[in-house]
Amino acid sequence: MEIKNGIPVSPGVAIAPAYVLDSESFRIPKRFIRKDEVEVELKRFAVAREQAVAEIRDIRDSVHSVAKDEVGLIFDAHLRMLEDPMITREIPEKIKQKRYTPEYAVSRVFKKIIKPIKEIGDSYFGQRVNDFYDIQRRLLRNLLGQQAQNISKFARRVIIVAHDLTPSQTATLDKKMVAGFVTDVGGPTSHTAILANALGIPAVVGLGTISADVSGGDVVIVDGKSGRVLINPDDATRAKYEAKHESYQEREKRLADAAARAERHTRDGVNVNLYANIELDDEIEHAVRLGADGVGLFRTEFIYSKFGAHPTEEQHLEVYRRAHAALGGRVLTLRTMDFGADKYAAEVGLEKEDNPFLGCRSIRLSLREPAMLVTQARAILRCATLGPTRMMLPMIGSIEEFRAARQIIEGVKEDLKREGVPHRADVPLGMMVEVPSAAICIDAFLGESDFFSIGTNDLVQYTLAVDRNNQYVAGLFKHTNPAVLRLLQSVIGACSRAGKPVSVCGEMAAEAHFAVLLLGFGLRDFSVGPTSLPELRTLVSRVTLTEAEAFAARVMQLGHADEITRLLEAEVERLLPSAEFG
Ligand code: PEP
Ligand code: MG
Repeated sequence: MEIKNGIPVSPGVAIAPAYVLDSESFRIPKRFIRKDEVEVELKRFAVAREQAVAEIRDIRDSVHSVAKDEVGLIFDAHLRMLEDPMITREIPEKIKQKRYTPEYAVSRVFKKIIKPIKEIGDSYFGQRVNDFYDIQRRLLRNLLGQQAQNISKFARRVIIVAHDLTPSQTATLDKKMVAGFVTDVGGPTSHTAILANALGIPAVVGLGTISADVSGGDVVIVDGKSGRVLINPDDATRAKYEAKHESYQEREKRLADAAARAERHTRDGVNVNLYANIELDDEIEHAVRLGADGVGLFRTEFIYSKFGAHPTEEQHLEVYRRAHAALGGRVLTLRTMDFGADKYAAEVGLEKEDNPFLGCRSIRLSLREPAMLVTQARAILRCATLGPTRMMLPMIGSIEEFRAARQIIEGVKEDLKREGVPHRADVPLGMMVEVPSAAICIDAFLGESDFFSIGTNDLVQYTLAVDRNNQYVAGLFKHTNPAVLRLLQSVIGACSRAGKPVSVCGEMAAEAHFAVLLLGFGLRDFSVGPTSLPELRTLVSRVTLTEAEAFAARVMQLGHADEITRLLEAEVERLLPSAEFG
């Protein structure tokens, strides 16, 4: 048994065999297959090779047609290489005899081919090396592409083990069959982590080398609360974690029961709204069942992976229409697209940037290429005829940006009116407060934005200069840093005094131990992943506003993040004692 520790990002315990996902841009680790898998894996390699041959023929033929014989000859050479016995015989042999995965067999054989050529160090042979790399990449891409298709249908429950999971991979996972997932990289509020939470799947990220340490079929235990991952546990350990899994399920059930009985206000009668954050459209019904008062943040990026980089107005509308139907008259807050950095950057063909989190992401992209925003805004204004709708702009850093976006949206309203298309022009336009410049100058926005939602995931990352995706600095990503808390207190206070609705929709709002503090700051609207709703509902109904305000005052006297964390944890224990909830 091997034990690894990573960053826990989605609670719960899962025990299942591993399904390891390799990635093309990452070293392929040594991994083995079982005897009964040999035939299937040989077939997978054969298909990948045939696909490579067909792709190269296509390229060669299109090149020939523009009379580039010399270039065509290069691809003829590639085709000959794919016929070489090293590839047609040695790779299948390694799969059969050594039981290597096809990916690993390909990488071993190509290493053997390339090494001596490289050692010659001549420029002609240097070119040959690149040809071999090219073919290797093609074969791996085809193998991994088959793998990508496979993750949407598993025959048994598995734990996904990967170097990283892209949001679109996570979105297409066969949710019923994925018991948990673990990755080498990732931080506490990375998009993959948020999706794991949304799907209610236990997950641990930032494990370093887990994708190389585990082979397909190894039994893996994921403890999404402690961040512990156990590989091939002994029977006693397995039994202990099975019991832990049971008690986690029990706790969830008890919280759901308590939430169903709980009042929808604090103990002294102050109304508190709990909205849901939605990552994928099929979550809304679940959120409503768990008592959501509406959707406080609908991350619309998945629409672009579902329909391609340029969904039409009708495709947007179809998703929003379904959301309204599931919400039955509750509010739907649609955030305009927030691509870039870790969100669907590759899928929509964004250029690679040196510092993507500081680059052309989100609203900056919408303002640079307004066509996407225009299409989306048309659908949002149109869907508002179906139910209460709000439009929210992400990543606003200056009043100029807010005004520029609003001007585009005003233009959209004029177009819809001129075209006679039914819509609502009075859709409230709000903004995320997630860039420190907007939080510091919140007063500049109060007269212009209809509502505000604080995105603590980005606000913490930008305030503390800590990449939210990077496991090496995850220990510095602290919501309890006094600088973050002061910003939150000031934004919530300013919005409340101005009578403007304000919510917190970052992951912080979903953590029970921040709820009392945020209430004490004056927050009345929380927006959280659906699975956190029962715990939060129960907790809010057990505290009074007077207690919350006194508690916030005590917390703000402390100057040290860890001291603050201890105080917050003690308060949760008082309100949701382990003796009652386990
Ligand atoms: C945030 O930054 O806190 C937020 C809610 O937006 P996202 O996580 O989608 O960047
Ligand atoms: Mg954000």
